[in-house]
Amino acid sequence: MEYKTLYNGVQIPMLGFGVYQIPEYDQAKQTVLTALKNGYRLIDTAQGYMNEQAVGDAIKESGIPREEIFITTKLWIQDFSYEGAMKATTLSMERLGVEYIDLLLLHQPMGDYINAWKALEKMYEDGKLRAIGMANCYPHVLADLCETFTMKPMINQVEMHPFFQQTLNLETMQAYGVVPEAWAPFNEGLRDFFNNEVLVTIGQQYGKTAAQVALRWNIQRGVVVIPKTVHEERMIQNMDIFDFSLSAEDMAKIHQLDLGHSEIVNHYDPQWIKQLHQWRF
Ligand code: NAP
Repeated sequence: MEYKTLYNGVQIPMLGFGVYQIPEYDQAKQTVLTALKNGYRLIDTAQGYMNEQAVGDAIKESGIPREEIFITTKLWIQDFSYEGAMKATTLSMERLGVEYIDLLLLHQPMGDYINAWKALEKMYEDGKLRAIGMANCYPHVLADLCETFTMKPMINQVEMHPFFQQTLNLETMQAYGVVPEAWAPFNEGLRDFFNNEVLVTIGQQYGKTAAQVALRWNIQRGVVVIPKTVHEERMIQNMDIFDFSLSAEDMAKIHQLDLGHSEIVNHYDPQWIKQLHQWRF
């Protein structure tokens, strides 16, 4: 496994495992157990995914020492206040069955995230959190936070894949020393992702799939990836990306696929923002 070092010295695996859209307890627990068995050591959950309990139980049942597993979870907007973030984090730790969380993210830069962030800083200082970060910050938002917060986010977890490359966001993160982490590294399968001609053709040179090419592309840009799958053979496939390198020519071809916008979410749509505020977990 390759690692990236956060600005506080904590190391994060370059490849992790996402558990979004696996809300059912037994399936979530079994999926995480299978991922751990196959070598994944970073699990990315969230209060909103409704599976922290299953993740925690799987980690315990795996028998793998706690310190070998990097656990990420996220707080939702409803808890964005100083006290709210404190209480919500305690609940996450109880459900996960842990005494500390490796990385805690604020799921959206919305609501009273400034005071929620102050709570994260305090819990970081108290040793309950090994790292703290944000999710879904576009570059202007990230720059504003970095200029405002006492502690800059250590991670910015955003949608990043060949169809939405977020080059300015990546440059902004690099400028502020914030590690980029890609959610939906496969565009959640949209746009017939796994059969994309450019990705498939590039992969054929190396005996790799479109999925492996897409993960490798992000890793070569310095981006941590957290693909999700409930299938063991895909978990194994998605792990097998550290024995080849994409050429500059391959990277340039993938660069051409960028649409410059998301097809999954629209943070510029007021109705979408209203909906996010109304979600409760
Ligand atoms: P994703 O990883 O881009 O795509 C998941 C889809 O790809 C699933 O349908 C999966 O199917 C399929 N898949 C996985 N590996 C494959 C392979 N090798 N070949 C063919 N199909 C494959 O989407 P995501 O789950 O939305 O994103 C990944 C993680 O990012 C999430 O699980 C979550 O932890 C995180 N996330 C964070 C945010 C945020 O706001 N911070 C938002 C979204 C996601 P099967 O499962 O059926 O195999």
